[in-house]
Amino acid sequence: MDDKDERLASYEREIRRLNQLVEVSLAINSTLDLRPLLRAIMDYAAGIADAESASVMLLDRTTGQLRFVASTTASRGAGKLLDIHVPLEGSLAGAVLLENREIVLDDVSTDPRHFRQADQQSGFVTRSLIGVPMRYRDDVIGVLEAVNKRAGPWTADDRHNLLILASQAAVAISNAQMIDQLKKAYHELDQLDKLKNDFIAIASHELRTPLSVIVGYATFLKEDTTGTAGKHAEAVLNSALRMRSLIEDMTNLRYLKQGETDLRRARVPLADLFTLARSDVERLAGAKGHTLRVHQPEPSLVVTVDRDRMVMALTNVLNNAIKFMRGGGQITLSYQLQPGAVWIVVEDTGIGIPRAQLERIFEEFLQVEDHMTRQHGGLGLGLAIARALVEAHGGRIWAESDGPDRGSRFTISLPLPAGEDHKPG
Ligand code: ADP
Repeated sequence: MDDKDERLASYEREIRRLNQLVEVSLAINSTLDLRPLLRAIMDYAAGIADAESASVMLLDRTTGQLRFVASTTASRGAGKLLDIHVPLEGSLAGAVLLENREIVLDDVSTDPRHFRQADQQSGFVTRSLIGVPMRYRDDVIGVLEAVNKRAGPWTADDRHNLLILASQAAVAISNAQMIDQLKKAYHELDQLDKLKNDFIAIASHELRTPLSVIVGYATFLKEDTTGTAGKHAEAVLNSALRMRSLIEDMTNLRYLKQGETDLRRARVPLADLFTLARSDVERLAGAKGHTLRVHQPEPSLVVTVDRDRMVMALTNVLNNAIKFMRGGGQITLSYQLQPGAVWIVVEDTGIGIPRAQLERIFEEFLQVEDHMTRQHGGLGLGLAIARALVEAHGGRIWAESDGPDRGSRFTISLPLPAGEDHKPG
C-alpha cells in the first residue's frame, strides 16, 4: 500500500467512525428514560471499542462513592455488579473521576488500584480496561468503562471514541435525571393536592349536616321571637347562611377537576342560561341596592353546554360583581357574537381589579385583598371553578379592568356549534 492508499484508508476509517458516533449520539439523545438510556450507552461503548463488556458508574453524592448503574456483565446475569459501590480512593474508576482524565490499561494486573471486588462478585475476569470521565458542564458525574479488548491492545481511536461517547452520555444522563426529579416532584405535588382536596371535600361534607340543623332552628327562633332575642336569632341565622355559602364553595372544589367527558352537554338557548343565572343572583343584587341589567338573547341563539355547570360558572362571576361593588352599583349581563363563538359579558361598576392581578385571580384561593383583613366573604375559588368549567367546554374566560374603582369586565367565550350562522343581535 503506498502513501496515498494509506491516507485514503485512514480517511475512510475516520468517516466510518464519525458516522458511527453521530448515530450513537442521535440514539442516546432521543430518549429521556434513564434505564434504556444507560443500557444503550454501555452497549454502544462495548461495540465502539470492540470490548467484551462495558459499564456505566455514576457518582452517588450521598455516599461519595461510584455506583454501577449499567453493565453488560450484570445484564448477562453473571453477578450482582449493580449492587456494588466502588470507593473513589484506591480504585481505577475513582482515579478517572478524581483526576478527570482517562486511564488506559492493557493489563490491569499491573495496577494495584484495580478494584478486584467487582470481579469477585460478578465472576468476570478483567484483563484490560479503558475508563473515561463522563463530564457534564464543570462536573464529572461518572465513569464509562470498556473492559477486555477482544483483539490486540486498545487503540487511540478506542480512547477517542469513548471520550466522545462519555461526554454525550453525560449530557443525556443529566437531562434524564433532571426529568426524573421533576416527575418525582410533580408526583409529590399531585399527592399533596389530592390530600388537600380530599380533606376539603370530607370536611365540607361533614359540616353540612350540623349546619342545616343550625339554619333550621335559627329560622324558627327568628320567626317565634321578637325584640333583642329576635335580633340575636337573626344574627345567628345570617352567619349560618354565610357559612353555608362558604361550604358550598368548598364542595364545588371538585369541579376544578372537571373534565370534558364529565359534562352532560345539550343544546341550550343562551337565553335560558341568562334567565337561570339571573334568578340565582337577583335577590342578592336587590338586597345590596344594585341594578341588574340583562340583554336577553334571541331564543334561536343556542350553545352546546352542560346547562347546570355553565350556569354555575356564570353565577360565580355575577356573584363577584355583586360582592365587589359598594351599594347602588350597576351590573350588566350581555353577549356579543364573534366568528365561531359567542361572548358572554358581565360588567360592573365596582372596585375594579389591579392590572397585575387580572390573570392571577383565576388561581385557586387567590384574592386581591389580604386574607386576614378582607371585608368580603369567600374562599377565592369561584373564578378558578368558573375557569375550569368554561375550559372543559372548550371556551375561555378572562377579566379586564381599567383599575381601582373603575369597574371590571369578565368575558366568557363559548364556541358556537359548527356551521350555525348567527346574525349579530
Ligand atoms: P372569592 O370571590 O371567593 O374571593 P373568586 O375566585 O371568585 O373568589 O375571586 C377571586 C378574587 O378576584 C376576589 O377575591 C377579588 O379580589 C377578585 N375579583 C373577582 N371578581 C371581581 C370583581 N367583579 N371586581 C373586583 N374584584 C373581583
